[in-house]
Amino acid sequence: MKEANYRPTVATVKLDAIKRNVQNLKAYLKENTEVIAVVKADGYGHGDVETARAALEAGAAMVAVATPDEAVRLREGGISADILVMGPSPVEFASQALQEDITVTVSDASWVAESAERLYDKSGKLKIHIKVDSGMGRIGLRSKEQLQSLLNEVGKSDKIMIDGIFTHFACADESDPSPTEEQFETFIRMVEEMPEKPRLVHASNSAATLLYPDFALDAVRFGISLYGVAPSPYTNTKLPFPLERAMTIETELAYVKLLPKGNRISYGGTYETSEDEWIGTIPIGYADGFRRGLRGQEVLIQGERMPIVGTICMDQCMVKLSRELPVGEKVTLIGRQGEEEIMFEEWAVALGTIPYEIMVSISKRIPRIY
Ligand SMILES: *Cc1c(COP(=O)(O)O)cnc(C)c1O
Repeated sequence: MKEANYRPTVATVKLDAIKRNVQNLKAYLKENTEVIAVVKADGYGHGDVETARAALEAGAAMVAVATPDEAVRLREGGISADILVMGPSPVEFASQALQEDITVTVSDASWVAESAERLYDKSGKLKIHIKVDSGMGRIGLRSKEQLQSLLNEVGKSDKIMIDGIFTHFACADESDPSPTEEQFETFIRMVEEMPEKPRLVHASNSAATLLYPDFALDAVRFGISLYGVAPSPYTNTKLPFPLERAMTIETELAYVKLLPKGNRISYGGTYETSEDEWIGTIPIGYADGFRRGLRGQEVLIQGERMPIVGTICMDQCMVKLSRELPVGEKVTLIGRQGEEEIMFEEWAVALGTIPYEIMVSISKRIPRIY
């Protein structure tokens, strides 16, 4: 699987961790609640086909992605399970979706009308999930009238079949439950307008799955926590079962030198040694997703935290070592060494963002090893 890689910088993905997260989730959910494994954005940076396969093997019933192209990639990668495209699809995608048995998300009647026209001479039925905007304000219908006209259009065509209806929570990872409870009620009122309940009624993302077991309905859409990461610090304090982290990022010391007091390091010369310092260079930089804002971030070497000093370059950066260490010594950027662990959350705090953004920013240049 691994292509030639002369650089020691790698992201190792433990597919067993993903499997155990799915198994623990299934044990926690009611027996008739399905797991939809969310593998959008290349499986949150972990590899879409590989993580989809692992999640399905562990008992997920379906996978979900954000875009039509992501769904097509999974089919090309040999994933034969049901795939839901959760974001908008253009009507131009309808016929390929039908052909490849990809389920699309629909929010309005005109989409149904236009795609029905495109599908009139095709065999089979296009599966759709209706999206309800219960308070996220992104995509989805908001009124009973909109739902009614969508159902009317579906009724006019024998090429379109309603397989599900769903909504998405905006604040499920926060401590105040009221916005999530209100969204859930709004959603359920809309579902009750359906003359026939579709096969899958679903609402919960990872946070809602972990914090609101009563909202699980027919399926949950489990994204970030599939990879072992809690959606927020608050959620992390309330986990009903342990999550196992799937990714570690490691490299090696590529160069080591003793830099005498008063010497500067990296672009701009903004770091100056205040004594004779052992400095290690590691082959990872902002082109790998190790963003410039992570200057000062620590890495683990021999179980010890040591800081990045000076500006992070595109492909390399420097670490202040606590002592002389050999070239080739393992450096952990994300993961555990002994008692110490560095998690995506730590980078997220340093950069003023959320772990989601960090995970999907680990660039393709770092090979994923399974
Ligand atoms: C991304 C996404 C999810 C998964 O969210 P997590 O917080 O990662 O679990 C679920 N549903 C929709 C509609 C999404 O866009």
